[in-house]
Amino acid sequence: MNAKVVLLPGDGIGPEVTDQAEKLIRSMSDQYGLGIEINTGLIGGAALDETGEPLPEDTLAMCREADAVVLGAVGGPKWDDPHAKKRPEQGLLALRRELKLFANLRPVRLHPALAEISPLKTERIKNVDLMVVRELTGGSYFGDKEEGDDFASDSCTYTREEVERVVTMAADMARARYGRLTMIDKANVMATSRLWRAVSAEVMEKKYPDVAYETMLVDAAAMHIVANPSRFNVIVTENMFGDILTDEASVLVGSMGMLPSASLGEGKAGLYEPIHGSAPDIAGRGLANPFGMLGSVGMMFEYSLGMREAARQVELAIWNAVSAGQCTLDIGGNLRTDEAADAVINQLGDIH
Ligand code: ATP
Ligand code: MG
Repeated sequence: MNAKVVLLPGDGIGPEVTDQAEKLIRSMSDQYGLGIEINTGLIGGAALDETGEPLPEDTLAMCREADAVVLGAVGGPKWDDPHAKKRPEQGLLALRRELKLFANLRPVRLHPALAEISPLKTERIKNVDLMVVRELTGGSYFGDKEEGDDFASDSCTYTREEVERVVTMAADMARARYGRLTMIDKANVMATSRLWRAVSAEVMEKKYPDVAYETMLVDAAAMHIVANPSRFNVIVTENMFGDILTDEASVLVGSMGMLPSASLGEGKAGLYEPIHGSAPDIAGRGLANPFGMLGSVGMMFEYSLGMREAARQVELAIWNAVSAGQCTLDIGGNLRTDEAADAVINQLGDIH
C-alpha cells in the first residue's frame, strides 16, 4: 500500500500523545504488512520557535503529499500574547484550509466502565454512541467582519454547495450506521439556518429517503445532549454550533483525553487529532491520556486508508484496555501515557 503519514506533534502534551500514535501506526503497519511511511513535521508553537512560522512551508508541502496527517495539539502559555502577530493556532487553521477540510467528525461513545466518571452519572448515558459532523469552512468564522469601539459585526454566510457536501457526508454515515440524522440549526432566527434546512431537506428527500431525518433547534439540542444523549445517532450542523455542541458532548464520556476526531475534505489527506488541546497543566509528566489520539489513528485507518476492519480493531483494543482498567489517571487507572498506549497495542496483539 505504501501510504504516507505525516506526524505533527506540536506543543504541550501533543508530542507525548503523538509518540504513542507513532508506535501504534508502526505496529499496525508491521502486523498488516503495510509499509506505511512516516514523516514528522513542525507546527504550532514548536514551529514558531524554530522557524518563525506556525505552519512552515516544508510542513505544508509534506502534508500535501501525504495520505493522512496526525496532529497532537498546538498552543500554550508560552505563546499566549494576544498582541502577537503570529500564533500557534494559526498554523492549524491554515492547515485545515490548505487541505480543504470541510467536515470535522467526532464520534462520542461512552465506555460503560466510565459511566461513573462522567459528570452526568446516570443510566441514560450508558448507550451514548453518537457522531457529530461539524461544518468547517463557512459560517461566522469566515464571513466579513467589522470591528470598532462602538460597533462590531460578524457576518455568517453559507452557500448551497457548502451545505450539500457536508449533509451528504453525514447522511452517508447515518445510512451506514442504520441511524437517524439530526440536522441542528436556528431556523427561527438565522437566514443561513433556513438555507441549511431547505438544502438538507432536499438532499434527504432526493438521495436518502431510507434514512430517518429530523431537524432540531440548537437551544433544544444543547439541552437534549446532556438530558438524553442516547436519542442521537448522527448530528450535522454548521461551524459555530458544531464547535459548541462537540465540546458539550465531549463531557459525556468522562475525560477530554478519550475523544478522537477526523477532519475530511475534498483533498487527498485527512487530518486526525484528539479533541483535547495542549493541556499545559499536565504536559511533560506522563499523565496524558493517549486514547483520544489512538482512536484518531483508528479513524485514519478507516477514512484515509480504507481499512475499516483495522479501525475496528483499534477501537476494540482501546475498549478492552479501559475494561481492564489499563488506563491513565483521568479515567481511574494508574498507568502512564506510554504504558496505557502499550496496553492498547498489546490488546491488538491478542486479537490476532
Ligand atoms: P485548547 O485551547 O488548546 O483547546 P483547552 O484550554 O480547551 O485547550 P485542554 O488543553 O484540552 O484545554 O485541557 C483541558 C483540561 O483537560 C485540562 O485540565 C487538561 O489537563 C485536561 N486534559 C486535556 N487533554 C487531556 C488528556 N489527553 N489526558 C488527560 N487530561 C487531559
Ligand atoms: Mg479547547
